[in-house]
Amino acid sequence: MKVRGAVLREMGLPRPYAESRPLEIVEMDLAPPGPDELLVRVRAAGLCHSDLSVIDGSRPRVMPMVLGHEAAGEVVDQRGIRPPGVRRAVRQAVLF
Ligand SMILES: [Zn+2]
Repeated sequence: MKVRGAVLREMGLPRPYAESRPLEIVEMDLAPPGPDELLVRVRAAGLCHSDLSVIDGSRPRVMPMVLGHEAAGEVVDQRGIRPPGVRRAVRQAVLF
């Protein structure tokens, strides 16, 4: 399946990031969810201080990396798992 993500290819680019533009929105291929995973249609996602620490290089990670690990959206596929309080088509906040 096709997904879009904010990809960081290089840490430590100079500020302001509006000029160095360290992130690129990229369409990627992603394997479908496994039997113990949920598929969530993400409607909004944010970058937090942890992500900014990766961008500026103070929290090194293997590159390239998709940033953003806090999102909101609707569950579209549950693959047989039923976590408490999670129902298909109901808006959820997710952390990963
Ligand atoms: Zn965070």
